Amino acid sequence: MITTAAGSADGWQPMPAPWVDPGYMKVFYIKSPNSNDRPAGVEVDTIVIHSTVIPTLERTTVAFQRPESQVSAHYSIGKDGSIVQNVSTFERAWHAGVSVDPQGRTNLNHFSIGIELVNLNDGKDPYPQAQLDALNAIITIMKRRFPIKQLVSHEYIATPYGRKNDPKAFPWDDLKVHGLPMFFGKPK
Ligand SMILES: [Zn+2]
Repeated sequence: MITTAAGSADGWQPMPAPWVDPGYMKVFYIKSPNSNDRPAGVEVDTIVIHSTVIPTLERTTVAFQRPESQVSAHYSIGKDGSIVQNVSTFERAWHAGVSVDPQGRTNLNHFSIGIELVNLNDGKDPYPQAQLDALNAIITIMKRRFPIKQLVSHEYIATPYGRKNDPKAFPWDDLKVHGLPMFFGKPK
């Protein structure tokens, strides 16, 4: 069970104790302290897809709750399609690090949505269909909310190239349904 007594007026919740994943397509909003305002006037138009390396949604959430980790994402998705929102999409999450997008814009955290997929990122760990379903649902919602124009891997946008390699072995074909340009692998 989750308790909501300590949650805020804008609907976020404390971490459930003991932890239980929310379940397929269900969302907990467990707000990360690792976030700040987007720059004034910026338009959110990019989605950055990551894999956690961390093996569970619970441990990912714990990591994003620790101020000293200095990292967060807007959403984290478990292997069963459970979703934890960590940061409001209208605020700036800290997931991309030093980065440049296909158009040469730097600091993707300013203008992107960061989505973490629970995956070991070893090139073998699968991305189950339930997890892809939840990812596709979030992308669909983000396209309604913002003028999303591209999907990128963390690997592609992290600089220097090779600093990151996630999401490794991700099935990009599964995201073609959105009709958006996709950038992954090594930048040309
Ligand atoms: Zn990443």
